[in-house]
Amino acid sequence: MQLSQRKALIEKSFIEHYGAPPTLFVQAPGRVDLMGSHTDYNLGYVLTQAIDRNTLIAARPRADGVARLASLNVAGISEFDLANIERDTIHPWSNYIRGVADVLQKEGYPLAGFDGLIHSTIPFGSGLSSSAALEVAAAVLFESLADWEIAPVRKAILCQRAENEFVGMNCGILDQYSSAMGVSGSVILLDCKAITHEIRPIAPGVQVMICDTKAKRALTGSEYPERRAQCEEGARILHRFYPEIHSLRDASLDQLAAHQADLPSVVYKRCQFIIEENQRVLDMADALAAGRHEDAGRLALESFAGARDLYEIVCIEMIAMKEAIITAPGALGTRGAGAGFGGCLVAFIEEGAQEAFAHHVFDSYVEQTHIEPEIYPAHAAAGAGVIQF
Ligand code: ADP
Ligand code: MG
Repeated sequence: MQLSQRKALIEKSFIEHYGAPPTLFVQAPGRVDLMGSHTDYNLGYVLTQAIDRNTLIAARPRADGVARLASLNVAGISEFDLANIERDTIHPWSNYIRGVADVLQKEGYPLAGFDGLIHSTIPFGSGLSSSAALEVAAAVLFESLADWEIAPVRKAILCQRAENEFVGMNCGILDQYSSAMGVSGSVILLDCKAITHEIRPIAPGVQVMICDTKAKRALTGSEYPERRAQCEEGARILHRFYPEIHSLRDASLDQLAAHQADLPSVVYKRCQFIIEENQRVLDMADALAAGRHEDAGRLALESFAGARDLYEIVCIEMIAMKEAIITAPGALGTRGAGAGFGGCLVAFIEEGAQEAFAHHVFDSYVEQTHIEPEIYPAHAAAGAGVIQF
């Protein structure tokens, strides 16, 4: 949907909800990781880009310190007093915004009340990070409604804190950082330890495609924190032998291999994946910059195999999608986007092959799973901000 169409849709609905038009629009994009699964909370590297799918919040200030929220993607209205922010169990989706408000306020930023309406083109729970887009959009909104400014990187850190502490999801910095710091037309090599990035070029000839399995994430909620705890256990054990190791970012494969007997076998597999994946991020950045397309494709497939065999975050729909992709015209390689357990794969294909690729992947995936996937290109987008119409 075009931005102008979305604006019209939002304005109409805003007036229906609140009786007056919005005065302010903000946006924050989703993201896709080109390499680096679960490396962020291990303080490693991720090659990431913000994408041309985003979350808009339209708003109108209120003078009474109350925030009212509705979303065109979810039913219900959630209302809260900024002087007393509690979790909403009936509209849990509003907790992403309540959390941001809570963190900002505790950091000393004054907040103003508003009526708000959300509209997103990012699918939920599919590995493209709709939650971080909502948080970062909220941070931009609070900043615009009151009279202060914070640097985008600090916004990302505070939004991550909101998701960690208020929502209760112990995620790394990747999602919020990508949404706040995205650069139009560029990929970002994110260093999650230093919380900085370098902009990396992509040589012409490659197109990034999103292939959404539409598989419902079958998470019980424990898989993500369990993986994180296993990595932390591995780093703790290695630290006993190598005091300079504080996270898996600091560990080498040789150090890990030298202490195989000291680690539980599951922990060993998780650590091996993360240490290898970290190196793959750096190798991928170089391969894409140099136009070594076959290397980029191979690295993606190695990441997929490690995610399946060592980190165990790949489900059968992801395997079906990978099969559909690697047999498609123009395909170079593919890997899971985001945390895994369903959601999207990111595919690297030869430029110009988009249509034939999408047709083949669609048909082959439907044949295997009887689920209709969604296949579309991803273009690197700018980070969050106020929209000037
Ligand atoms: P992901 O970030 O990978 O998309 P999460 O489970 O972390 O998946 O976050 C998805 C949740 O974020 C949704 O279930 C919903 O609660 C909230 N959310 C995201 N975008 C919106 C939106 N546009 N309107 C309302 N809630 C949203
Ligand atoms: Mg999320």
